[in-house]
Order: sequence, then structure tokens, then C-alpha cells
Amino acid sequence: MQKKVSFHTLGCKLNFSETSSIAREFTDKGFEKVQFGEKSDIVVINTCTVTGIADKKCRQAIKKAKKTSPDAFIAVTGCYAQAETEKIAEIPGVDAVLGMNEKFNLFKYFSSFEKQKQAHIYSCEISEIQRFDSAFSSGDRTRSFLKIQDGCDYPCTYCTIPSVRGKSRSNTVAETVKQAEKIAELGFKEIILTGVNIGDFGSGNNETFFDLIKELDKVKGIERYRISSIEPNLITGEIIEFTAKYDKFLPHFHIPLQSGSDKILKLMKRRYNTDLFRNKIEKINQLIPDAFLGIDVIVGFPGETEKDFENTFKFLNSLNISFLHVFSYSVRPGTPAEDMPGKVSGKDIKRRSEKLHQLSDIKHNAFYGKFVGTKHKVLFESAKHGNSMFGFTENYIKTEVTYNENLINKIVDFQITGVNKKGNAEGIVI
Ligand code: SF4
Repeated sequence: MQKKVSFHTLGCKLNFSETSSIAREFTDKGFEKVQFGEKSDIVVINTCTVTGIADKKCRQAIKKAKKTSPDAFIAVTGCYAQAETEKIAEIPGVDAVLGMNEKFNLFKYFSSFEKQKQAHIYSCEISEIQRFDSAFSSGDRTRSFLKIQDGCDYPCTYCTIPSVRGKSRSNTVAETVKQAEKIAELGFKEIILTGVNIGDFGSGNNETFFDLIKELDKVKGIERYRISSIEPNLITGEIIEFTAKYDKFLPHFHIPLQSGSDKILKLMKRRYNTDLFRNKIEKINQLIPDAFLGIDVIVGFPGETEKDFENTFKFLNSLNISFLHVFSYSVRPGTPAEDMPGKVSGKDIKRRSEKLHQLSDIKHNAFYGKFVGTKHKVLFESAKHGNSMFGFTENYIKTEVTYNENLINKIVDFQITGVNKKGNAEGIVI
């Protein structure tokens, strides 16, 4: 009897690429993949611990798995599993907890996936992790997330990621190109390069991120690459110039700023100041004027006064950017910021977050408005939403059209004619 397996992923694109790789091993071995929440024989939960809320959602996912599949073998892996291994193992119903180094080893330890009397733990100290495990997503979406790098060597004082993903390590350029070729063979046209600190790609192999993108550009079948989040100090002039010159690397950047106050950037131990950040943004504006610029910012970091926040607001307001990813500071156990003075009240965090969300809406609407009447290439996705389907232009404008299966996974010429009430671009395929 074919066993059913379901997967649930919390967190980032990197986690999605890894879950998808784990799922491929199950389906390659003849297991039937079903939706999370459907009754199944095995449930794999890939967790996140970037905030306290993420931890809570992981525990809720375990509860849901137990409720919907009471007899299932439940395996928990990922960042929260590495951070709180014992705690998760004590949750009744959990059969296996796999730390970061064991994420892809379920079949090494289990074959029939029968329910266990107690949870088995497979994990190690984060300092012991040296190996890079490659991964890419396939099946669920039209675009593929390709894991090119893992871990981080940066000392950001609010961040727990280095303590759960380990030191920075990456694939080689040659191996990454092979992965991209495999993804092309599967029929994907767009790849999103993902990792923890992707700009640090190759640091252990005497290679660089720039070396990588030059080689990826030559891969046949892949027509579009998006660079997911990249540190401001690592987005070099040559990367910007290359993206400006070569069509496959799309005019879309996601860059974490975190604060527009140099005082707070110092307390965060970030590796740049606002001058450097502004220079990078202005260089992109100059060489790639149509580029979409999504910026990460944290509100409520310990020590952030009203004045510091005003500086952040003014700084962001003065930049030609397209969207803000606004995060409320979440204290993480064991990080230096946990013991820093100047805790910001929940009320102030909420108010500051709302103010930046409003600013983001203004920037985003202005960005979309700028492109009404222009032509773009849109890759349409397979998912059907009511009568609609969605796709993204090169510069990350979300377009909405009436569902037409002939458009799935096609890159078509598209004329933007307006922006609808939902904030999506409308237009015609030409
Ligand atoms: S660069 Fe900083 S914020 Fe990003 S993963 Fe590394 S330590 Fe965390």
C-alpha cells in the first residue's frame, strides 16, 4: 500500500527549497505526496526560529499534524529543531527531531516510518557543521528556489540564524551550474537564488557571487534569475553593472537596511552605514532606473529612540525605493541584543511599524503607477485564484489576468493598462 506523506514549511525561501528536495526523495521512492492537513502516514515539518511568533507557529503545526493524522510518523527539522531540539522531542506525538546537519537524512535512520515510543533526536553542535547540502524547489511553484549558500559569519546582534544554521558555506560555481541545468531540464524558466547570506557565496572556495552569476547567465533554458536578499556591503558595483547589462538577471533587488539610524546600525553590528546604503541605491537607480527595490527594516530595536526612528523614516522616505518589508524587533534567546538596554514598548513598536507600512504603500503605489502604459515580459504562474491567474514582470510587478491555462509557465509580452483595486497590475497580453 503506497504510504502518504505531507510536508509543512515555515519561514524563508531557503526552507522551501530544502523541504522540496526532501519531498522529492519521498516521491522518488514511491510515496504519495498529499497536502498538509490531509490524513497521512508521515508528516515532515520544516521549522523556522527567526522570531518568537515563528516558534509558536511551529508548535501549532505539530499540534495540527497530530490532530489531522493521529497515527502518523511526525518528523520535525529546521532552524527551530536545531535551536530547541530537546523541547520539541518532549512534545507528545513527535517521532523524530533532526537538526540542521541531519535535515536530509530521514531515510538514513528510518525505512518504514512506524510510530515510535518516544522521539529520536539526530543533531549536533552547530560548530560541528561544515558540509553544504544543496537543494532546489520543484513541483509546487512555477519558479524554482535554488539554494546556493547556507549559514552566516556575520555578528548582527539581533539575529539567531548563525546559531542555528552554522558558519557560511556554499556550493561551488560548477556544482551550482549543474543544479541550474537540472532545473532547466525540469522545464523551469525562472530561478530565485536563495541562501542565508548569498553575497558571501564562494567565500570558502575562493570563488565569488559575481563568478557565479556570470556562469549561471550561460545556462540554456533558464531565462530569468532573481537575486533574493543580498547584504548592502556585498552588492558590488560589478554585480549591479552585470545586472544592468544582462537581461537574464532581473531588475529586482531585495536589500536589508534594518535601520536608517547610524547609531542603531552600530548597535546592530551591521557592516555598513547609511551613506554606503544610499550610494548603492543611487547606483542602482542610475544604472537600472526600472529596478524594483525591496528594503528590509526592523522597528523597535533596543535603544531606538523616537529621534532614531524619525531618522529611519526620513532616510527611507528620501530614497527612490519600491517597497518596505517591515519587521517588529523580536528578542531572540542568546543574542547580544537580548541584554541591551532601552527596550521599546509594544505600543511604540506598533505605531512605528504602522507608519513604515504607510510609507511602503505610498512607495509601492508610486512604483506601480510609473509603469502604467509600458510593455513588459511576464512569466505567468500555474495557480488559479478564482477566475484569475498571476504573473510577475521583470521588475517584480504583480500582474493579474483572467485564468488561461495556455499562459502557464509562459513568458509573454504584456502591456500594463492600469492597477486594479487589489493593487495588481492589469493589462493585455500582446
Ligand atoms: S547577515 Fe546578519 S541578519 Fe543576516 S543571517 Fe547573518 S547574522 Fe543574521
